Amino acid sequence: MSEARVVVTGAAGMIGSHLVEALLARGDRVVGVDNLLTGDLSHLAGALGHPGFSLVEADVADGVPVTGEVDAVFHLASPASPRHFLDLPLEILRVGSGGTLHALELARRTGATFLFASSSEVYGEALVHPQSEDDRGNVATVGERACYDEAKRFSEAATDTFRARFGVDTRIVRIFNTYGPRLRPEDGRVVVSFLDRARRGQPLTVHGDGSQTRSYCFVDDLVQGLLTVAGSGEQRPVNLGNPVEVTVLELAAAVLEVTGADVPLEFLPRPENDPTRRRPDITRARSLGWEPKVALADGLARTLEWLRATGA
Ligand code: NAD
Ligand code: UDP
Repeated sequence: MSEARVVVTGAAGMIGSHLVEALLARGDRVVGVDNLLTGDLSHLAGALGHPGFSLVEADVADGVPVTGEVDAVFHLASPASPRHFLDLPLEILRVGSGGTLHALELARRTGATFLFASSSEVYGEALVHPQSEDDRGNVATVGERACYDEAKRFSEAATDTFRARFGVDTRIVRIFNTYGPRLRPEDGRVVVSFLDRARRGQPLTVHGDGSQTRSYCFVDDLVQGLLTVAGSGEQRPVNLGNPVEVTVLELAAAVLEVTGADVPLEFLPRPENDPTRRRPDITRARSLGWEPKVALADGLARTLEWLRATGA
């Protein structure tokens, strides 16, 4: 059993809850911090029975109420779905500013390493394709996505400032579209939205003409990426994502295939500032020894299995 004590903010979320399980499995003690804004206690059902796990219900924008020694902080707390950009913009701005400063302060005070869960959204409507970490982004400071994009950019700057100013051992990972079990239908992100609608016999809601692209990473792969970057000495930003790029129409076809559903597509207007193309250049992550392994069809099947099992 390792002696490491790890704090995970956003522990009850989709990625956070899988990360908690992976940390417990390798013998770490884990303190999860979450206000259950977009997460769910049921995601921690396995962890809550584990002697190495405890949960603090708190809004990290008000502080991270964890005492005692801490070896590592993974700061994942933040709503992440474009639906939440519309419903929870102030919560996103607060957690991605004050929340990040509080989490960084915990790392500075305890001497813990600090990993920030940033996003491909820092590239905005990217001018470079695929996106490498050197791309400075093309991001709107106003509009529907700005609360999230700018909160992530502020948080990266804050993380790098604590590295430079206080010597905190920091990591910044830029996560590209990640999906899997525990991504709930009401979250609205496209993978689970399509899977859920298909299994209910409803039309798949395609925004625009469906030619926009994304690159979808299965959550187990992503969690391995977080652990790889955390364990490396890399303090520069690292893209984490699956470089296989598909259009929304291709994703719809893959969902129809895996569900066996025969439902039509319903074309709806494209949201404001919806990025046109997104694919990570993962050269830097590969150099650290990480790359995704789960193919889209397998990941979709595993996510569908979870949806069916939970009746979510
Ligand atoms: P999620 O919504 O499932 O998880 C976020 C968790 O943070 C939830 O449990 C929520 O309750 C918690 N939270 C939100 N605000 C909080 C606050 N103020 N205090 C405490 N807890 C709070 O989303 P996810 O997909 O698991 O994303 C996790 C992290 O990864 C987020 O920071 C997100 O921005 C980042 N990310 C995710 C993706 C993706 O595709 N899933 C892509 C890029 C970045
Ligand atoms: N999308 C869609 N139908 C939906 C939900 C999303 O066509 O029901 C599109 C969305 O406009 C975007 C892509 O799918 O182009 C990925 O959207 P998601 O909300 O999953 O994440 P984003 O990458 O936009 O943050």
